[in-house]
Amino acid sequence: MINFETFFKVSYGLYLVSSKFQDTKAGYVANTVFQVTSHPPKFGISCNKDNFTADIIKKSGAFAFSVLGEQASTGLIGDFGYRSDREIDKFRGVNYFIGETGSPIVTDSCVAWFDCKITETFDVGSHLLFIGEAIASDLINLSIKPLTYNYYREVMKGYSPKNAPTYIEKPLLNSEITKAILENELWQCQLCHYTYESEKGDPISGIEPGTKFEDLPDDWTCPICGADKSMFDRE
Ligand code: FE
Repeated sequence: MINFETFFKVSYGLYLVSSKFQDTKAGYVANTVFQVTSHPPKFGISCNKDNFTADIIKKSGAFAFSVLGEQASTGLIGDFGYRSDREIDKFRGVNYFIGETGSPIVTDSCVAWFDCKITETFDVGSHLLFIGEAIASDLINLSIKPLTYNYYREVMKGYSPKNAPTYIEKPLLNSEITKAILENELWQCQLCHYTYESEKGDPISGIEPGTKFEDLPDDWTCPICGADKSMFDRE
């Protein structure tokens, strides 16, 4: 028997993976970025085949990734993590530069970056596993801590989007958060699955503990993805 809660005990960071082919830039938030060898330094990323970025990476033969910091803005995670490049220009208003491989490298809210040239690609079913050799890398901001997937889940109350390799169907979860959603009347963002708990308020937006969902200001938005109140449903 598989207990899906064990999957959340595997540690990950959160990264902004990006690529560019001709004039088309693409990027998404990934937790599955990992170093596979040190000589030469190679990194692997697991990318859903439906992901617009997968296609761009395949065509360009390169990708970059930036290590997201703990105070990454909700707009950045919302746009890159929960929306598609097919719908919006994710790079509008974001600080980035073009690396040696041609990939756009995001520097906003990030700790470090790597620019990689693809050396191998493996088809692993729903996802493509791209292996790339890092040809350049540098630090961006040492004053911020790298964002871990655990912090994102436990503190920011974020969930993996459907295309993520680590996505798990809600009914399979039996965590405290999921139980609270089922037992209490909580409000959940339909875009990113963040849960608003009135008991805790929303410290990120300065909402006091004890504030009911109904009493949130009209211009309050989801602290994870930036969706407005109408995107929330009572569970
Ligand atoms: Fe949200």
